[in-house]
Amino acid sequence: MKCRKCGSEQVNVQVVSETTLKTRRKTWLYWLTIGWFIEPLLWIFLTLPKLIYELFIPKRVKLKTKTRKIAVCQVCGESWDVKASL
Ligand SMILES: [Zn+2]
Repeated sequence: MKCRKCGSEQVNVQVVSETTLKTRRKTWLYWLTIGWFIEPLLWIFLTLPKLIYELFIPKRVKLKTKTRKIAVCQVCGESWDVKASL
């Protein structure tokens, strides 16, 4: 494989695995306004049934890991995504 920038053959391909964990952070404004009474309600009505549900039904955890191939040129330092066909 050749570097797309300088044409060098000294290209290092790295496999990068990404696990995207999205946790929504709640703002202080949220807690000041509705969070303080919505959260316990949500906890009672959503989290508790969920916990009970999870107690009886085994978890099926799907780990979604994205793997990307990144080529890094050893000469000029250019890096780019490698297409899956490689
Ligand atoms: Zn290069």
